[in-house]
Amino acid sequence: MNYTSEKYPDESNSVIQKINLPGYSGSQEIFIRRDDLIHPAISGNKWRKMKYNLAEVERLAKTGILTFGGAFSNHIYATAAAGKLYGYKTIGIIRGESYNPLNPTLQYAFSSGMELYYLSRKEYPQKENHPLIKKLQNDDPGLYILPEGGTNFFALKGAAEITVSPADNFDYYCTASGTGGTAAGILTGVSSRQKVIAFPALKNGGFLREIIINLASVHIQKFENNLEVKTEYHFGGYAKVKSELIEFMEAFQKLNSIALDPVYTGKMMFGVRDMCQKGDFDPESRILCIHTGGLQGNLGMKSIIEKKIKNRILRDV
Ligand SMILES: *Cc1c(COP(=O)(O)O)cnc(C)c1O
Repeated sequence: MNYTSEKYPDESNSVIQKINLPGYSGSQEIFIRRDDLIHPAISGNKWRKMKYNLAEVERLAKTGILTFGGAFSNHIYATAAAGKLYGYKTIGIIRGESYNPLNPTLQYAFSSGMELYYLSRKEYPQKENHPLIKKLQNDDPGLYILPEGGTNFFALKGAAEITVSPADNFDYYCTASGTGGTAAGILTGVSSRQKVIAFPALKNGGFLREIIINLASVHIQKFENNLEVKTEYHFGGYAKVKSELIEFMEAFQKLNSIALDPVYTGKMMFGVRDMCQKGDFDPESRILCIHTGGLQGNLGMKSIIEKKIKNRILRDV
């Protein structure tokens, strides 16, 4: 893929579509916001979070972006693509041991010109203060440091725009959560009668509530009651795959012709259906689910899933 010849991200691609949930027919109207269509590589919430950071890179006359992420990170992938598209050097600090050969995410990042460095899982939590980062910054003062997941003040400003739509009369905004930046941005954009429901992809995601509130409070001090964090739809954790989830994603795709990813959007949508079935949403309410993108990760995940299906051990993953 040659990204210098690709089109630029286009938010007007993010249409809102009415969807059906497999196995549920209630009085609520359910919609999806197609942020996954903004750009093939800088997709979904990663573009939303990057947009005002790129403006900041330009304002500060920086020439490169250094950022952090896991080996399957959609943010690493998107940053590499953005660097190539907009002409910035990019450096990715990757959690864990180096990959040889590179997985599809890192291979794409590398071939887009991203320099890759690895920090052990032990060192990674202190990544911002690691001597390696200091050295890279000393060597190149033109580097703009973007936190993990691209989540910072500017990211929230972009994510808040998810709530701006021609007919902004939704009762619920549902989004998958990793760092919480997207949910926090949406929270700053909603009105007092609207609810934001965050679905952490990680196990034990309850800690995200405080993180999301803290992030959002940089902009605004109200709306704590507008946030709900649903921790029970992690399916075992970040990169775990369960057959129940895969089957749901397949049924959803069949019904709506919209692909989901098993790390984020699949879990969120499964959670929305489960909440629907449990009667957690007000009757006749309007629910907007955010398709935050992440389909590139399916490339790496696909081979793992296919192997497991072939060996009929999917149920035990
Ligand atoms: C990164 C990502 C998320 C998590 O977003 P946060 O702002 O970090 O909470 C959700 N969905 C997809 C598809 C992502 O790639």
